[in-house]
Amino acid sequence: MQESAGAATGSLTIIGLGPGTPEWLTPAAQAALDAASDLVGYGPYLDRVPAREGRVKHATDNRVEIERATHALRLAAEGRQVAVVSGGDPGVFAMAAAVFEALEAGEPGWRAIPITVEPGITAMLAAAARAGAPLGGDFCAISLSDNLKPWEVVTARLEAALAADFVICLYNPISKARPWQLGAALELAARHREGRTPVLFARAVGRPDENLRVLALSEAVAAAGTADMATLVIIGASGTRLIARGKERPYVYTPRSVTKSPWATSQGRT
Ligand code: SAH
Repeated sequence: MQESAGAATGSLTIIGLGPGTPEWLTPAAQAALDAASDLVGYGPYLDRVPAREGRVKHATDNRVEIERATHALRLAAEGRQVAVVSGGDPGVFAMAAAVFEALEAGEPGWRAIPITVEPGITAMLAAAARAGAPLGGDFCAISLSDNLKPWEVVTARLEAALAADFVICLYNPISKARPWQLGAALELAARHREGRTPVLFARAVGRPDENLRVLALSEAVAAAGTADMATLVIIGASGTRLIARGKERPYVYTPRSVTKSPWATSQGRT
């Protein structure tokens, strides 16, 4: 009981910083940052939060999520006001799940720590907003990283999403350690969907080096190597289309109404 009474004086907030620009940080997330005595997170995310007298930053490597989460819980149990920061939304392929995993496996007393999750604008919503309305119909999000799951799971989910005609958002499409996965995923997509299907490569959305490209699926396969870790890829569904604007990048949108069964549009093609 002593232990949980002590723990209750600390707190833990898992904060989404949004894609990059401060305008896309929610006022609630900003208030939670302001209230924190300790910030825990991957170095580049912590760099986005201005230093403040008396506030401690605990920077960590990107691949030690559970250790970072455990460290944050320990600090909160000691009575600190801890904020764990993530890019985008903390619940989307990010720190919130790691904190709950560490909580589940950790000391029973930690369950008395008040934990709050402050949502942020996730990359797919920021990218979609820039492009038009590609997520107007049913869509899904898949992380292409096979660091935390076998590649067979990624391809099984991709196949299912392609067959069901979802718009597909690909997070973690490529990295130096995972150079071929995006090409393989787009090749798979090309076996299910028309070559002219719109594909969006949205890089560093909301940051000064933002870059958006709209390609046809047939071109995107060959362009896979031009994506990087800061890129979100959106593969259109059969209904996704472009509105041409001359020299300007076309709008990409997916109408909300669907009349054809996915089994007629995608499975029939394989
Ligand atoms: N929690 C984050 C996602 C973390 S996974 C979120 O909600 O956005 C990291 C992946 O997110 C990157 O590899 C990239 O695919 C995508 N991503 C994150 N920020 C991005 C941005 N500003 N522009 C485009 N993609 C981004």
